Amino acid sequence: MTAILWFRRDLRVSDNPALEAAVATGRPVLPVYILDDDDAGDWRPGGASRWWLHGSLAALGSALERHSNELVLRRGSAATVLAALVEETDASHVFWTRRYEPWAKARDEEIKSMLKASGVDAQSFNGSLLREPWEVQTKAGAPYKVFTPYWRALRALGEPPAPSPAPEDILAPAQRPESDGLDSWELRPTTPDWAAGLRETWQPGEDSAQTRLAAFAEDIVFSYREARDLPGVAGTSRLSPHLHFGEISPRQIWQSVVSSALTHFRDPMPKGVETYLSEIAWREFSYHLLFHFPKLPHEPLRPQFAGFDWEDDPEGLGRWQRGETGYPIVDAGMRELWTTGWMHNRVRMIVASFLIKDLLIHWREGAAWFWDTLVDADLASNSASWQWVAGSGTDAAPYFRVFNPTLQGAKFDPEGDYVRRWVPEIASLPNKLIHAPWTASPLELADAGLTLGADYPMPVVDHGFARTRALERLKRLKEKQDG
Ligand code: FAD
Repeated sequence: MTAILWFRRDLRVSDNPALEAAVATGRPVLPVYILDDDDAGDWRPGGASRWWLHGSLAALGSALERHSNELVLRRGSAATVLAALVEETDASHVFWTRRYEPWAKARDEEIKSMLKASGVDAQSFNGSLLREPWEVQTKAGAPYKVFTPYWRALRALGEPPAPSPAPEDILAPAQRPESDGLDSWELRPTTPDWAAGLRETWQPGEDSAQTRLAAFAEDIVFSYREARDLPGVAGTSRLSPHLHFGEISPRQIWQSVVSSALTHFRDPMPKGVETYLSEIAWREFSYHLLFHFPKLPHEPLRPQFAGFDWEDDPEGLGRWQRGETGYPIVDAGMRELWTTGWMHNRVRMIVASFLIKDLLIHWREGAAWFWDTLVDADLASNSASWQWVAGSGTDAAPYFRVFNPTLQGAKFDPEGDYVRRWVPEIASLPNKLIHAPWTASPLELADAGLTLGADYPMPVVDHGFARTRALERLKRLKEKQDG
């Protein structure tokens, strides 16, 4: 008899409550990962996520081998695969870490009932969040819709439970059932192989996540408050893909950052630490929203936005996707995304605002592009963030707050380092022109050896015009509703 540990988005061996419970049964543990694209439907992982998943599963496989066990890989609908594995290995238990996407929740409930009906002990655990979405609630027992009171309530619950180390032994079954080969899943691109930039930037896996956390908690976190908005500086943790795939838990991050601050500073704690913890809480809040408002990925949380008059503009969308809008900070962000699978948070806000408000293209188009290209693409954080920028979320930046890409660039990339890295064709422009090349005189352009419209595009739209147009659209929406 075995205990099956169904790995999903908890691809680590430390601080993994489901794994600990499987080990605690005293039975041999069968670790399995199921490629469940059939179940995920529209939400099957995008290209960049699939690339990451390959590396993450390879790393998990090696970690399990170090514990004298082996990961079994199967592909198909999870219910069918699990039923077969229970039968093949005479399993008495099936344990897993909870997921919160609406499709996964519904599917998991069915699987739990199916397993229980056949006498299997099926249990799920929290291994992905500081607190379950239902643990944080208003005095009236309702979910939060606004971040600040949510964060206060989360804080009021006290320190999150301490993380636990990896189990010493993960006893393997005497006979390992058949497993697919990881390469046969073809998660990595081949023709064309567009993943060179991802390989140069990232090393998926639990060990790499821990190394990154250690470097961040020892040093960078203390200046996080000042540096986190500067895309030209490595001032954030870059843990998002590791967190998304569960190679590290938020409890591990919380504990590591707090204990490092206590060691180095005691009193007062640098402000960067609290700011960083609140960003981890934004992730929690996104899951809270997705859990309580499962239509988050599809529909505006403020229903009045459903009637917004979006533009159908494939040409504009293409220029945004390729980083050819003519606004350097937008183009730098979109090229960073395409090359590395990641984009700095400040720039995510700028490019999202540009798509939604300057181009008037539906936020779902932007969310879909991010879904395919981000290594940290996450249904909760992506949907909540896009709705936040669009102004259609419950706790949103108001729609009338339209980011000016030139001013944002000048403020957060004052020396132009970020833009020069990702938009090298305009690198020789002086700082005063780097965020607005179209304002350069013919002499300045000649000095920089730049021909606008040939080497780098003219702006796809005039921002001043676009801002007025967006605000008029909003007014029209209000009038439609009032009248
Ligand atoms: P840090 O600044 O080091 O923050 C630490 C962790 O906190 C992050 O790893 C992340 O897990 C969490 N976090 C930080 N900011 C946010 C936030 N605003 N919302 C939710 N969690 C946050 N994040 C994703 O993980 N996946 C997404 O698909 C995603 N899509 C986004 C789309 C848009 C339009 C915007 C504006 C933001 C999106 N974010 C998303 C949030 C944020 O940009 C990233 O989490 C962050 O840039 C990751 O970099 P980091 O790990 O260095 O962050």
